[in-house]
Amino acid sequence: MTSRIRYAIILFVEIISLFPIDALASHRFPLRINVGYFHNLPIGSYRDIHFEFPDVQLPPDLDLKQFTGLIHISRTPQGLLFEGNFQAVMPSECVRCLEPFDLHLNIDFDEVFAYKTSSFTESGLYVPEDGNIDLSPVIREYMMLDNPMKPICKPDCQGLCTVCGEDLNLGACEHEARIQFD
Ligand SMILES: [Zn+2]
Ligand SMILES: [Zn+2]
Repeated sequence: MTSRIRYAIILFVEIISLFPIDALASHRFPLRINVGYFHNLPIGSYRDIHFEFPDVQLPPDLDLKQFTGLIHISRTPQGLLFEGNFQAVMPSECVRCLEPFDLHLNIDFDEVFAYKTSSFTESGLYVPEDGNIDLSPVIREYMMLDNPMKPICKPDCQGLCTVCGEDLNLGACEHEARIQFD
């Protein structure tokens, strides 16, 4: 590759990076991006996209707060490689003490979206004809995998007394004291 071509690619990547993500994402599909322009770019071209939402809903029902993420998209021979990291807070309830708490989710994301003409991918993800990719379903899936079945507010949460229901994180009740004495 000549240096002039390489410079042209770098310049192009810099120019397309200037488009604000707000212009691409609608309120209804906050994680939808258009990657149509990638089709004719040389292999190795890339773009980084930042996401930041105080509140976001991943349809149908996953409500997250403090959603932030960075995704690095690069053109490969098969399609587009998406590598990203996303963090979010999910309002949750501790299964031991039943108190509400903020569950922090952190996922690493690594998927290939293939061009239809190329070989299929393991994930079955494709770049649609119109170039619009909604990342919500995939990110939702990753977030749900990071979401424990039995969330607890802290590793050593003492839970509730089975007799009187007192929150044992706030101190031992008479029953708890007796159990410890016995
Ligand atoms: Zn708890
Ligand atoms: Zn008790």
